[in-house]
Amino acid sequence: MKPAPFAYKRARTLDEAVALLGEHKDARLLAGGQSLIATLNMRLSTPSLLVDINGISGLAGVAHKNGKVEIGALVRHAEAERSELIAKYAALIARAMPHIGHAAIRNRGTLGGSIAFADPAAELPACLLALDGEVEASGPQGKRTIRAQDFFKGLFETALGPQEVLTAIRVPAAGKDTRVGFAELARRHGDYAIVGLAASARADGKKLSDVRLAYFGVGATPMRARKAEAALASGGVEAAVAALDLDPHDDIQATAKTKKHLAGVLLRRVANQLLETR
Ligand SMILES: Cc1cc2nc3c(=O)[nH]c(=O)nc-3n(C[C@H](O)[C@H](O)[C@H](O)COP(=O)(O)OP(=O)(O)OC[C@H]3O[C@@H](n4cnc5c(N)ncnc54)[C@H](O)[C@@H]3O)c2cc1C
Repeated sequence: MKPAPFAYKRARTLDEAVALLGEHKDARLLAGGQSLIATLNMRLSTPSLLVDINGISGLAGVAHKNGKVEIGALVRHAEAERSELIAKYAALIARAMPHIGHAAIRNRGTLGGSIAFADPAAELPACLLALDGEVEASGPQGKRTIRAQDFFKGLFETALGPQEVLTAIRVPAAGKDTRVGFAELARRHGDYAIVGLAASARADGKKLSDVRLAYFGVGATPMRARKAEAALASGGVEAAVAALDLDPHDDIQATAKTKKHLAGVLLRRVANQLLETR
C-alpha cells in the first residue's frame, strides 16, 4: 500500500517544530521513520503534515554529566551501540541494542523515536524503566522532565502532550556496584520479542538490592515485576520465579501461559547476569 497524501516540512529549530505541531493538530514528527513510515504505508496513520526533526541541532550526542548519561533524541540506535560512554555508564542500553531489528533499521532509527513510539514489545522503553531513567520534553510551556515510571501510559500511549517533542533521555550513570541484565526471546534474531527482560540492581558480592525487573512483550507497557524483584533481593532465583507477578495476555506471538513460562526462563538467565561477580 502507499501512504495517503501528506505535506512535509523540515523544522530548523525546536520552537519551529512545536509551533508546527500547534498549527497542524494531526501532524506527526518524523525522526528515523522506521516505525512511522510503516504506519503511513499501512494507512494506520494519515497525518496531513510530517515535521522532520532531523535538522534540529541540540538533539544529538551522548554526554556524561551530573551523575547521569544523557542521550539526545536523535541519537541513532547504531551510534548508541558503538558509544563508549553508553557501554561504560549505561551498559544495559548497550546490551539491548543488537536485539533491535537489523543493522539497516539501527542505522536510521533513533532512541527518541523508540521511546516516544512506546511499542510494548520494544527493548528501549523497558531499559529506561529498569534504569529508573527519565525523559526530557519541550513544548509550548517550555521544558519538563518525566520519570520513566510515569511516561508509559498505555498501548503506544505516553505522557507526551500533542505539541511536545522528546528531546533527550537520561539514566543514572552506573557505579561500581551496578549490575545489569538483559535477555529476550524472539522467533528470529531482530524480530520483536515474544517476551523480554531488562534489569538492573546493586550488588554487594552475591547480595542484590534495588532490583528492578522491567519486562516487555507482556502487557500494554513495559511492566515491573515487583514481587519478583523483592524475592530476588531477599530469597534467590527460584523464589523470584515463583513470585513472578505478571499477567500477560495471548497475542499473535504466543499464549499468555507460554509468555508466563518464558518470563520465568528469562528471569533465571538475567538473574545469573546480575549475580556475576567482577
Ligand atoms: C523491520 C523492523 C524491525 C524492527 N524491529 C524492532 C525491534 O526489534 N525492537 C524495537 O524496539 N524496534 C524495532 N523497530 C523499530 C525501530 O526501532 C524504530 O526505529 C523505532 O521504534 C522508532 O524510531 P524512529 O526514529 O524510526 O521513529 P519514527 O518512525 O520517525 O517515529 C515513530 C513515532 O514516534 C514519534 N516521534 C519520533 N521522534 C520523536 C520525538 N523526538 N519526540 C516525540 N515524538 C517522536 C513519531 O511522530 C512517530 O509517531 C523495527 C522497525 C522495523 C522497520
